[in-house]
Amino acid sequence: MGMLGPAMEIMGIRIPTVIHDTDSVRCEGCHEPIAGQPMRVSILDVVATEAPPSWAVASPINPGPHQFHADESHVRAWMRRTGYLWCRKSAAREIMRPVAVPTDAGWGLCDGAHRDDHEFVPA
Ligand SMILES: [Zn+2]
Ligand SMILES: [Zn+2]
Repeated sequence: MGMLGPAMEIMGIRIPTVIHDTDSVRCEGCHEPIAGQPMRVSILDVVATEAPPSWAVASPINPGPHQFHADESHVRAWMRRTGYLWCRKSAAREIMRPVAVPTDAGWGLCDGAHRDDHEFVPA
């Protein structure tokens, strides 16, 4: 469901039907305008590295860049809604790696900055 945008939000968050200011960037976590510099998060394209050819068809992942307020909780709110798990050893960074979670048949995101096993938890 990586194509979900603010206009399609149906999970109880208010739906902005009219965009008055096309220059303002909205946070994908809380859908409020971002004043100042947004935090941009891109999800690494694993097609080029290790995934099978069918990955691109089957994957729900929208590589972004996704834009948020500069606060990790907004990134995690977006992950929670989108259905990603969160690696608790990770921080919110500009580049996140998608990791297939075998037990959940879903995707977790991690910054890849640690070398031991991932610990995926609900974002
Ligand atoms: Zn936000
Ligand atoms: Zn991890």
